[in-house]
Amino acid sequence: MKSNFTKWFLHPDGESKNTYDALMDSVVQLVADQTRKANLPFSGASRKEIELEVKKVMNIPAAAQKMDAVLEEVKNAVVRNSLWISHPSAMAHLHCPPLLPSIAAEVIINALNQSMDSWDQSPAATYVEAELVKFFTSCIGYSPEADGVFTSGGTQSNYMGVLLARNKACQAYFSINVHQEGLPFEASKLRILCSEHAHFTVQQSAAQLGLGMNAVVRVATNDKHQLCTGDVKEKIEKLRQEGLLPFMVVATAGTTDFGSIDCLSEIAKIANEEQLWLHVDAAFGGALLFSHQYRHKISDLSLADSITIDFHKLYYQSISCGAFFVKQRNDFQQISYHADYLNPEEDREGGIINLVEKSVQTTKRFDALKLLMTLKLVGTDLFGEMVDYTINLAKETACLLKEDSSFELLNDPELNTVLFRYVPSTNRDVSVDEINLELQRAFYQSGELIIAKTKQLGSVYLKFTMLNPLNTISLMKNHIKQIKLAGEKIENEQGETRYEYSVHY
Ligand SMILES: *Cc1c(COP(=O)(O)O)cnc(C)c1O
Repeated sequence: MKSNFTKWFLHPDGESKNTYDALMDSVVQLVADQTRKANLPFSGASRKEIELEVKKVMNIPAAAQKMDAVLEEVKNAVVRNSLWISHPSAMAHLHCPPLLPSIAAEVIINALNQSMDSWDQSPAATYVEAELVKFFTSCIGYSPEADGVFTSGGTQSNYMGVLLARNKACQAYFSINVHQEGLPFEASKLRILCSEHAHFTVQQSAAQLGLGMNAVVRVATNDKHQLCTGDVKEKIEKLRQEGLLPFMVVATAGTTDFGSIDCLSEIAKIANEEQLWLHVDAAFGGALLFSHQYRHKISDLSLADSITIDFHKLYYQSISCGAFFVKQRNDFQQISYHADYLNPEEDREGGIINLVEKSVQTTKRFDALKLLMTLKLVGTDLFGEMVDYTINLAKETACLLKEDSSFELLNDPELNTVLFRYVPSTNRDVSVDEINLELQRAFYQSGELIIAKTKQLGSVYLKFTMLNPLNTISLMKNHIKQIKLAGEKIENEQGETRYEYSVHY
C-alpha cells in the first residue's frame, strides 16, 4: 500500500528514504552547528524567557508544518536554551558528556526499536544484553552463577536491590512468599542499614516497597566519609535488642557528594556474619572497573549480593543506561512473573531467554548496544585512561583550592567531586551561605560555569563534579580565579542594595 503515510515510516519506498535522509542530515547538522557554536555551557537566558520561547512553539497543528521551520524552532527554543553538557565547564552533577559512539548507536537503537522484554521482540538484542551482562559480571569478579539486567539507571537498580533483599528476608524470617502473598504485618520490623551519604533512592525504595522510610537506619561515617563499620555492628545489635529485624546493608562505591567509597571487604564480612544482604550502590564508582590507577578501590565488589552500576554517569553513555547485577542468578526468581503472552513456561523449557523475567520494566530499551559500540570503538584501555584523567584532575583542583585562603576545601577527592566554599576575607557581618548560594546562581545565569550547590554539616558548599575528560587544569585555575573575584564582589555588596550580578570572563 502506498499512501501519504509511507514517507513517515522506514520503508523501502523512495519517499521514505528521502524523508529519512533529509531529517537525519538536518538533525546531524543541527547538532554539529551547536557543537561549533557552544563556547559556553549555557545561553544564560532567564527562566521566564525560556518558558516563553518553549510555549511559543507549542502550537500543535492539524496539518504538517515544514521541516525547516520546525527544526529552526527546535533549534531556537530548545537546543539553544539547553544545558550543553559536552562543555567542560558544565560540571554540576553526575551528568556526563556522551561519547560519540553512544550518540551514533542511539540512531540504530531507535530505528530498530527492539523491546527487550521478550526474545521474539529482540532476537539478537537479547543476546547482546545477556552477553554484555556476562562480560560485566566477569569484570566484577563474580562467578558464572551471577547474572544481571540493564535498567533505566541507579534509581531502578537500587530499587531492585531492596526488592530482592526484602523478598528473601520475608522468606527467611516469616516463611512468606511476598511475591505471592504480599507483605506480612511483621514486615514493619525490617530494617536496612546504610551510611548517611548513601543515595536517597535507598530510602525512596524502602518507602515504595512498603517498608517505610523509617526502615532505613543511618550509620555514622568516618572522616573519609565512609560508612563506619564499628557503628554498623553497634546498630545491628541495638536493632536486634529492640526486636527489629535488620536484613540488608547498602554500601556505596562513590557517594554522590563526596565520591567516597565504603570499605567493601569489612562490610561484606559483617553482612556475612550477620546474614544480611549486601547491596553495593556503585552507580558512580562502577566505572573504576577499567581504571588503570584506581581499580583496586572496588576490587571487593564481587563480595556483594547485588550491585548497581550506572553507565550514563562515568561511563559516558547517553541517558538512559544502567544495570543491576546479582551474585546468584536464582535470586531473580524472587520477582519472576509469568505472563502467558510474554514468557510462558514452554519458552523457559525450550531455553528461550525472555529478559522480562529479570526486570521491573516490561517494554525496555536496547541500551546495551551503545555500551557495546562504545567499548569496542574506544577500547577499555583508553576508557580507563579517561576515568583516571578526570579523577587526577579533581585531585589537582582540590590542591589548588586547598592552597588558597579564600576557599575552604571539604574533601580530598576519592573520585571526581570537589566540595568547597568561598570564605569571606573580611570580618564583616556577611552570610557565608548566602555568598555561596549567590555564586552558584550568578555563574549559572552567566552561562559560563555550571556548578552545583549542596549542604554539608549544615552549611552551603559548592561542588565541581568533574566528569569531562576534555577539562584541563588551566581551565580550572581560571574558574577558581573567577569564583574568587566574584566572591569578593558579592561580599563587598552584601548588606547593601540588592545587586544585579553578572560575571564576565
Ligand atoms: C546517580 C545515582 C543514583 C541514581 O541513579 P539514576 O541513574 O539517577 O536513577 C543512585 N546512587 C548513586 C550513588 C548515584 O550516584
